[in-house]
Amino acid sequence: MLRYARQLPLIGEEGQARLRSSLVAVVGAGGIGSPLSLYLASAGVNLRIIDGDSVSFNNLHRQILYGEEDIGLPKALVAERELRRRNSEIYVEGITERLTEENAPRLLRGVDLVMDASDNFSTRYIINDFCVRNDIPFVYSAINGFYFAISFIIPGKTACLRCIFPKVEDSGPVPVIGMTPALVASIAAAEAVKYIAGLGTSLAGKLLIGDLKDVEFTHISVSKSKNCPVCSR
Ligand SMILES: [Zn+2]
Repeated sequence: MLRYARQLPLIGEEGQARLRSSLVAVVGAGGIGSPLSLYLASAGVNLRIIDGDSVSFNNLHRQILYGEEDIGLPKALVAERELRRRNSEIYVEGITERLTEENAPRLLRGVDLVMDASDNFSTRYIINDFCVRNDIPFVYSAINGFYFAISFIIPGKTACLRCIFPKVEDSGPVPVIGMTPALVASIAAAEAVKYIAGLGTSLAGKLLIGDLKDVEFTHISVSKSKNCPVCSR
C-alpha cells in the first residue's frame, strides 16, 4: 500500500480495495487514452485497453504512452507494456482490435466502467448503444483543437449519448494540441476513480465543456430525450 500512501487519505482503504477489484475498459489508446490509462493504472485500476491502430510519428506530440522506438507497433500492446512497467500490481491487457458492434459483447461485457477515449462518433455510438442496453456506465470524452467535452452516462438515470448528440457525422482527423486531451483525460480518470471508490459527485446528467485557448469552462445540464432510439425504449 506504500505505492498509494498519498491517495489513501482521499479514497480510503475500502476505496483502494474497490479499485483493486475493478475492471475498466478504455476504448482508444490515443491522445485521451494515453494519459487516461496512465492515471488509472497508477491509481491501481485494472484495465483493458482496446485499440486497433499502430503508433505513428504524428501521434507522439499528444499520445504520451509512446516513444519514437514504438513507431509501427500496435498501440494496445505498447500500452500494456508501458502500464505494466509503471504498476506491476494491476491487471492490464491490450486488445489489438477496433471496437465494433460484433466484438463489443466480448470486449465490454462484464467490465465495471467503459471509458470512451475514441476519436469518432461511430465508435462512440457503438459504446453508447452497448452500454445502455447492458446497463454499463461510461464516460464520454472528446476533443477538438483547444476544446473538450465530457459527460458521465449512467444507463437508466442520465441522458445517453444519443440524447445529447442524436446524429454526428465524423469529419476525419481534427487539429489538436496535446494539453487538451491531457486535461479531459485527467477529468475522466478522476470520474472513474470517484465512481469506483464511491466518492463525491460526478458529471452524471451534466456536459462539461471547456476551451483551453480562452480558458473558459462551463456545465450544461443534459436530459433524456423522449424520442431517443436507444434509451427511451
Ligand atoms: Zn438516449
